[in-house]
Amino acid sequence: MKYDVVVVGSGPAGSMTARFAAESGANVLIIERRQEVGVPVLCGEGISKGVDEFKVLEGKRWLANNMDGARIISPDGTMVKLAADMAGDETGYVLYRDIFDQELARGAIRAGAELMLNTCAVNILKENGKIKGVKAKQFGEEFDIEADIVVGADGVESKIGRWAGMKTTLKPYDLETCAQYTLSNVEFDRAYCDFYLGKKIAPGGYAWIFPKGKDIANVGVGILASLSEPGMSLKLLDKFINSRPELKKGEPLRFLAGAVPVAEPIESVRDNLLLVGDAARQVDPITGGGLMASIEAGKTAGETIGKAIDEQRFDKEMLLPYEEKLKNTLYKKLKRNYVVKEIILGMEDKTLNMLADSLKDYKFDELSTLSLVKALVLKHPSLLIKLKPLLKLSRL
Ligand SMILES: Cc1cc2nc3c(=O)[nH]c(=O)nc-3n(C[C@H](O)[C@H](O)[C@H](O)COP(=O)(O)OP(=O)(O)OC[C@H]3O[C@@H](n4cnc5c(N)ncnc54)[C@H](O)[C@@H]3O)c2cc1C
Repeated sequence: MKYDVVVVGSGPAGSMTARFAAESGANVLIIERRQEVGVPVLCGEGISKGVDEFKVLEGKRWLANNMDGARIISPDGTMVKLAADMAGDETGYVLYRDIFDQELARGAIRAGAELMLNTCAVNILKENGKIKGVKAKQFGEEFDIEADIVVGADGVESKIGRWAGMKTTLKPYDLETCAQYTLSNVEFDRAYCDFYLGKKIAPGGYAWIFPKGKDIANVGVGILASLSEPGMSLKLLDKFINSRPELKKGEPLRFLAGAVPVAEPIESVRDNLLLVGDAARQVDPITGGGLMASIEAGKTAGETIGKAIDEQRFDKEMLLPYEEKLKNTLYKKLKRNYVVKEIILGMEDKTLNMLADSLKDYKFDELSTLSLVKALVLKHPSLLIKLKPLLKLSRL
């Protein structure tokens, strides 16, 4: 088997890369170890309305709920309301993630990519130290897939990068472990995605309620691996649900447990190889939302690959524009948010309460450093010292 490009993984990052590479004329194969694209779902299913700008989804079958915005609830219950366009990458729409992934894969196939299910990459193929494709396994049988470019879009547990000798190890400090139920028969305001903060609720993370419809919502907890022990995310999730009458009467339709990187993006390009999506740690370190980043990075990766195939050059220098472009766009935001993550992690619940109290009446549509400082000075001037690194960042 010989292709221009083999993409390992049919998540959003893999399908986007495959689509844009195929649209640029590359001969692309996606391999996916699961037997159905997007199943089982491992996601809170929240995404920003910014996804519309990519024009990669047809129809609305993937859309479960159209949100007005987000509400952040501090440990003492103070609520800060944000409109959808101010609320980050996880608020705007709530998805049916399985259909969403399948729609993205359909877009790649329509552009000419092939997709092989039940096919797991088990190693990288090398000849004289040069990457030549992947070794794959399907129904117990191993075979080689040759390709000029290998794309590791194989998610948080990515092995492609490691096999290629890249530094992909995640420290527990940079990993969020999550548990979630999809609960039916629950009551909530279906127009908002809710984020609950507090060391007792979710140390180093948050609990969420993402409404999927009238009486159905994804309710989950994500906590930092360095602050947790085995089974803790599920215990905290049960505690969160049982402490709320509007959730307690709910019945679960689905349970999932998974992990998400909350690290800074890593080096993602080698000769004949690039990483994209969770595999490259392209995730918002504050929220753990990675769908928008995967979509943006996948498009850039696919377009870069298209040019490399055109010129028949597959060395690192030819693929580097992918990373360079992201450094000037997506990575600026991810790196800034990594600093914000560290600031938030250093805050006691008391400080989070003060912050929420300062911001609860703040008009976020007028967001500027000056107006933010004014809001803080008026209510809790002591916060200014704690937020100094953040205010410095806003000048970058
Ligand atoms: C509990 C939870 C909740 C989340 N909620 C949200 C949310 O609400 N909003 C948001 O934006 N993000 C959320 N995320 C993060 C989001 O799911 C990821 O950032 C996103 O899926 C990354 O896309 P990807 O394509 O890089 O990886 P994935 O979607 O993980 O896709 C990787 C694919 O590669 C396949 N694969 C892996 N290894 C191999 C192999 N060796 N051979 C072949 N195939 C392979 C996998 O089967 C998988 O299909 C959440 C994550 C978790 C765990």
